[in-house]
Amino acid sequence: MLDVFQFLGNCPFCHQKLEKKKAKILSQKKGIFEVYVECEKCGTSSLITIMKTSQNIITSFGRVTDLSEEDLKKIKKLSPLSFDEVLKWHKKL
Ligand SMILES: [Zn+2]
Repeated sequence: MLDVFQFLGNCPFCHQKLEKKKAKILSQKKGIFEVYVECEKCGTSSLITIMKTSQNIITSFGRVTDLSEEDLKKIKKLSPLSFDEVLKWHKKL
């Protein structure tokens, strides 16, 4: 099992190292992890997407979100888009 939490990186806002204990996996599909994490230093919420490529290379990117964990749960329920569909859409651009 891949320990995705070691790839969290730093807070996009203040660059504090993000801590595993503040992180939670929102979704996990075909080697793509979406992780919600709060910065211990500034309290900024971030969404980190961690991807494992076919070459076993881990890439991650984070973006600041103003959504709370509760909001994210609601959005997940409402959203008709799967993460795969979002990825396909990104590739078309
Ligand atoms: Zn921070």
